[in-house]
Amino acid sequence: MASTSFPSAPETSDSATPERTADLAANLAEIRERVNAASLSRKEEQVSLLVAVSKYKPAADVQVCYEQGQFDFGENYVQELVDKAKKLPQDIRWHFIGTLQSNKAKLLASIPNLYSMQTLASPKTADALNNALPEARLGRPLNVLLQVNTSGEASKAGLSPLSGSDPDDASSELVSLAKHVITRCPRLRLQGLMTIGSLAESLSGAEENVEAAMLRNTRDRLEQQLRDAFPDHNSKTGSSMWGDKGRLLLSMGMSSDFEAALRTGSDIVRIGTSIFGERHRKGET
Ligand SMILES: *Cc1c(COP(=O)(O)O)cnc(C)c1O
Repeated sequence: MASTSFPSAPETSDSATPERTADLAANLAEIRERVNAASLSRKEEQVSLLVAVSKYKPAADVQVCYEQGQFDFGENYVQELVDKAKKLPQDIRWHFIGTLQSNKAKLLASIPNLYSMQTLASPKTADALNNALPEARLGRPLNVLLQVNTSGEASKAGLSPLSGSDPDDASSELVSLAKHVITRCPRLRLQGLMTIGSLAESLSGAEENVEAAMLRNTRDRLEQQLRDAFPDHNSKTGSSMWGDKGRLLLSMGMSSDFEAALRTGSDIVRIGTSIFGERHRKGET
């Protein structure tokens, strides 16, 4: 990486072509329609959040979507996110959805409009983030979602789902991490749970998604554990210590399975390929 010894290309010149702009606008409109249609089938009144996953895609693509009213974007790599966040509008809400190495926590925490970190899986990373976030974040904490491994695949990150009996739940890593965030990390706010489902599941075409149902069940059990542990969780001001009025949100569903995930109760879907097209691997673009 000798990039610093060469002048970098002018950054303002690379705006999207008219063709690319039209494609992105059409894709985004179609995905929004499908998200809304799949969300309508649900019982509870629930707002779905579409996070457009822009990893490996140029800032110009993000800018086009932003101009179409898309404010939530997901990124997997800290440096790529830092570079884009500098170039793009400050009212974008960035969601970090990649693996975070603790030595990158400081860099990630320096992004003023970082809105969520969706892949939290250890107290060590929670502490690293909490300590790296600026003082101002006490009044505007960073949302974190705990990553759960619903497929059981060893290659996937995340903590085990809850499915056991109450005493097992109470001593699980997931429950202790949730409590750790609530009691020890004032610059973080526990917003919900996140999973990356397996490919087999996304190809099943089922009406509901088994792994999404597992995450939903885990959420219900975790909420129960937290209510038991913090009976006074609803403060007099009406704000709860976690989630949205005490309800933890679910982030699940990608291009291949977001409709089944929404029907199963997902709140946040993370969609890349269906909006931006196929990705080239890092370094190939
Ligand atoms: C890349 C990625 C997505 C988007 O996946 P698509 O299949 O392109 O929609 C969603 N979530 C995570 C965690 C990802 O890494």
